[in-house]
Amino acid sequence: MASKTGTRYQAPRGTFDVLPDAARARARIEQAAAAIFARAGYEQISTPAFEDTELFERGVGRSTDIVRKEMFTFEDKGGRSITLRPEGTAPICRAYVEHGMHKLAQPVKLFYAGPFFRHERPQAGRYRQFHQIGAEAIGTDTPLADAEAIMLLADLLAELGVPGVELRLGSLGSLEARRAYLEELKAHLRANEGDLSKDVRERIEINPLRAFDADDADTQGVMASAPKLVERLEGEDAEHFAEVRALLEAAGIAFEIDPTLVRGLDYYTRTIFSFVCDRLGAQSEVGGGGRYDGLIEQLGGSPTPAIGWAAGIERILLALGEAEEAGGRDVFLAVADPGQGRRALALAGELRHAGFSAELDLVGRGLKGQLKHADRIGARHVVILEADGSAQLRDMQSGAQLPVDPADLVDAIGGEGA
Ligand code: AMP
Repeated sequence: MASKTGTRYQAPRGTFDVLPDAARARARIEQAAAAIFARAGYEQISTPAFEDTELFERGVGRSTDIVRKEMFTFEDKGGRSITLRPEGTAPICRAYVEHGMHKLAQPVKLFYAGPFFRHERPQAGRYRQFHQIGAEAIGTDTPLADAEAIMLLADLLAELGVPGVELRLGSLGSLEARRAYLEELKAHLRANEGDLSKDVRERIEINPLRAFDADDADTQGVMASAPKLVERLEGEDAEHFAEVRALLEAAGIAFEIDPTLVRGLDYYTRTIFSFVCDRLGAQSEVGGGGRYDGLIEQLGGSPTPAIGWAAGIERILLALGEAEEAGGRDVFLAVADPGQGRRALALAGELRHAGFSAELDLVGRGLKGQLKHADRIGARHVVILEADGSAQLRDMQSGAQLPVDPADLVDAIGGEGA
C-alpha cells in the first residue's frame, strides 16, 4: 500500500489508493460480512464521515489517545469544530438518540462499513485513513448479546480464512465497580512512579488503565504486579463475565482470558474482547470491541446498554496476505475489420443483458493484438466478427474455432458452460 515515489503528487501520508486487485479482495470481505449480518438480523447504517468534535470528546473520552492526539479536527466556514470520524460507535449512538430508535423493537442491531480517520504515525497495518466493518447491538444488557456479537466476528474471520487468530477476553466491570478499582490501580502506579514511562506517569490520574498498554519494559514490570480488574469483579459483574465465558464455551469459540486487556476508548464497561492475529506485526489486532452500557446516556439518551465491535479491513487483508485474482471474462468480441465495431458493441450489450461478462476492443487493435489482449484479460471465449457479417467462436482454452450464427451467440456460449 506504499505510494509510488517519483511522481509529483502522492496520496497523503498514511493514506493509499485502492487499486482494482485490492478492491476485489475488499469487496469479498464486505460481501462476506454483509451476508453474515443479514443472517443474524443486523441492518446497515451509514453515518456522516464527520461529526461535531464534541461528540467524540464526550463519547470516546477526553483522556484517550484518540481525542488527545489523533483526531483530524478543523473549523468549518461557520466556525463549528468538526472532526473526521475516528470510530463508528459514538456516531451510531448519536443517531440512535437523534432518531428515537429506543422506540423500535430492542435490541436495535446495526452494522456499518466505511472509512475512519486517525492522525497516527503510519506503519504496516496503521493508517490515517483506514476502513472498518462494525456491528452494534443496542438496547440489551444480556451476556447472550455479548456472546452473539463475539460469535459474529469469529464467524467472519473464520469464513474469510484469516489464519492464526486468537480471541482475548476481559471485563472492565460496571462503571461503579471500576471506580474503586481505579483508586487501587492509581495507588500502585504512584507507589512505583519512578519506574514508569513519562507518558504513563503523566496520566496516572486521568487514564491509569492505559498503563497496561505501555511498550516500555520498566512500565510493563510495574504492571505485571498491578492489581487486575478481572480478579476484582464482584456480584453482577462477576456473574455477567462468567456467563459470557460459559456461552462462548458452549458455542465452541476458543478464548484466552487476558487480565491486562484494555481498550483505547473510555466508553467500555464489562465485556471487552480483541481478536489478534499472529501473522501481523506490532499492530496485531484484526478486530475488537466490547460493551458500552453508559455511552448513550452520556450522549443525552436514556440509560441504554449496548455491545459492539469493529474490525479493520486493512488488517484482515494483511493477515490474509493476498490480493484477489481477476475473475476473467466470459467473452471478448474481436473484429476482423474495424467496420464491425457497431456490431461488436450491440452484441456486447446483448451478452451483458443475458448475464455474461463481455468486452470489446476500444482502442483499435489489429486482430492479432485483440486476440492477445483477450488472452491477457482471461477471456474464455472470443467471438471474431468477420467483414462479411459471419462470425467465428473460439474457445480460448482448447483453441477450437467454429463458425457461429451471431443471432445464436447467447445460446452457443451458454451451451458451452460459460
Ligand atoms: P478500535 O476502533 O480502536 O477499537 O479499532 C478496531 C479495529 O480497527 C482494530 O482492531 C484495527 O483492525 C482497526 N484499526 C484501528 N486503528 C487503525 C489504523 N490506524 N489503521 C488501520 N486499522 C486500524
